[in-house]
Amino acid sequence: MSELANNHTYPCKECPPGMMRLQYITYFTWLSDELITVPNFPAWVCDVCGRRDYDERAISWLSMLLNPDAGKSTPRPRWPHPPLSQRDSTRPSLE
Ligand SMILES: [Zn+2]
Repeated sequence: MSELANNHTYPCKECPPGMMRLQYITYFTWLSDELITVPNFPAWVCDVCGRRDYDERAISWLSMLLNPDAGKSTPRPRWPHPPLSQRDSTRPSLE
């Protein structure tokens, strides 16, 4: 099972001629309603069909980073949402 992860390529599960290759991509995920981007995230990408598999160790590392309070159900936003710029446009600036 995990021995596949030791190689830098392995056959794609979706298409017979495809090879999964290790690439570093920008991973996007949502944390509550914040969009988190993780640059240089390891992913296996098929060079034929474009299928992506993520390294499960990297995913569990990421989920630990993003959910230090995993298990607690009380939602506690760390920061208030900044006012949107469109909100400012409803208030005409006074000269
Ligand atoms: Zn493929």
